[in-house]
Amino acid sequence: MVKEKYQQMIYKSMYENFQKWDELEFVTERQIYYFLHSLKGTAGSIGLCELTTIASEKIEPLNENEERHWSKSEWKSYLAPIIEGISFYQTNFNVQQVENTQLISTDNSYDQEFILIIDDDIVFISYLKDVLEKKGHSVIVAYNGKRGLELIYELKPSIVFLDIMLPDTCGFSILKNVKKIKKDRMFVAVMSSNDCKENRIRAYDMGALDFISKPIEEDILNSYVTNRLAYRKELEQSIIIDELTQIYNRKFMDSQLIKLIQQYNRNKEPFALAIADLDYFKKVNDTYGHLVGDEVLKGFADLVMNSKREQDVFCRYGGEEFVMLMPQTTVDQAYMLLEQLRESMKQKHFTASGARFQVTFSSGVVEATTKNLHPKKILEEADQALYNAKEFGRNQTVMFDSLTAGVQKKIKVKIIVIDDVYIIRNLITTHFENWKSSENFDIEVISYGDGVSFLNSNWYTPNYKYIILLDGMMPEMDGIEVLKKIREKHTSNDVIISMLTGLKGENYVLEALENGADDYIVKPFNIIDVSTRIMSLIKRLFI
Ligand code: GH3
Ligand code: MG
Ligand code: MG
Repeated sequence: MVKEKYQQMIYKSMYENFQKWDELEFVTERQIYYFLHSLKGTAGSIGLCELTTIASEKIEPLNENEERHWSKSEWKSYLAPIIEGISFYQTNFNVQQVENTQLISTDNSYDQEFILIIDDDIVFISYLKDVLEKKGHSVIVAYNGKRGLELIYELKPSIVFLDIMLPDTCGFSILKNVKKIKKDRMFVAVMSSNDCKENRIRAYDMGALDFISKPIEEDILNSYVTNRLAYRKELEQSIIIDELTQIYNRKFMDSQLIKLIQQYNRNKEPFALAIADLDYFKKVNDTYGHLVGDEVLKGFADLVMNSKREQDVFCRYGGEEFVMLMPQTTVDQAYMLLEQLRESMKQKHFTASGARFQVTFSSGVVEATTKNLHPKKILEEADQALYNAKEFGRNQTVMFDSLTAGVQKKIKVKIIVIDDVYIIRNLITTHFENWKSSENFDIEVISYGDGVSFLNSNWYTPNYKYIILLDGMMPEMDGIEVLKKIREKHTSNDVIISMLTGLKGENYVLEALENGADDYIVKPFNIIDVSTRIMSLIKRLFI
């Protein structure tokens, strides 16, 4: 605590010093020398060792008795790492005390609502993203149609803002795709500066809910989004059938599960539950396209609907995961039923562009007991068994085993901060050290001062998911170069990358997105915002 107080003092005095210099036309080398000298001396003793290192490096070439004039731009660029550090500190000065109370809950990761912007105009993207994030929405961006479509499938955004003119395709062709597949009640708003009659008609005809003319004002945008999200929520409440597969959805499953639990409580009526998840489904999408993927989902749902017992309730839980509720059933019986389904699935062939292929599924089954009589708990147990089924090699049914429970199924997340400014690394690391790991995942933070040492390290282990916060401007190797190197080997599936950018301009952000960045955060930032953003990135890893 005492150290902290002195740290604050040192930042304050540095800040004041720079403010003073800022009013001068020039400063002498001697002044810079003394500034660094005193910084070097104090910083280390109050726990800011890295600042001492920077100061030592910077003071090296300077001469104590040199009266040479340094222009504003000269000293600012020379001392950039320190100045950037201060601005970062300023932003977070009064923030740390409250941060722990503001952490968002990580439960209900499925309920996370995303807003997707598909647009190639980076100025517009940044504007929209800023406005929406200020209101607490999770925003994702795609700068072209291909990426946009991918994100629609992966994240099932609630609202999509779709530009008509995109670099690789036209917004209407995305609408066409979306219309064909009827994506989970997602609202598409076409946004265009070309607000002509033809475009409007075409957009509405193709299923867009709205046509918004660019530019759009902040308050109108906010009202629009609030309105649509509320409407969507209302719709969701009233709908129990999954649009794609036409079987029950998760909401219905939840209500049925509660009923079964009540019956168990009242009459000790047993029941079992299974979660089934298609194996390597992502590969199906990647190989044959999402439309074929959709056909597989439908095919699987049909197969189960035609083979299951009448009393069993089969639901789409989300994505390629399904839940079966089996009243009056023990876990052994449930196991047999699922195994029979797996046999039927073996007989089934799918076709796409001349190719014939098969898809398998894994499942975890569990029986209600007095110990797991809670929807969340029983689903967790089934999920754990499913996890084991995947681990053991997929294409199998596994019963929940309380003995092996609790050992696995935590998603391990590594947050990697690559930034040459110590204070940024330090703040993010400290922030997450104080986090307690949630029941769903463990977080570990590692930081690197430059891209080269990061790339040379053995940072990647397959069992982890990664969120990389990557500084755009670093000595030696630029952030974009590091980004490209990471993307040579790793996709957003395991490694999500968010650039940390100074006010370096839109082209930079665009270049980053084009090279595979998933997100960007503008410096100086506030640690709470960053932590919220990281949470929303982590949620993407869950889906
Ligand atoms: P695993 O065997 O471990 O389950 O691997 P997987 O590839 O099946 O699992 P993963 O969870 O990595 O990928 C699931 C993919 O399912 C990701 C997402 O793009 C896709 N997906 C989710 N919902 C839909 C959908 O409605 N239609 C299509 N076509 N794909 C979907
Ligand atoms: Mg799967
Ligand atoms: Mg899955």
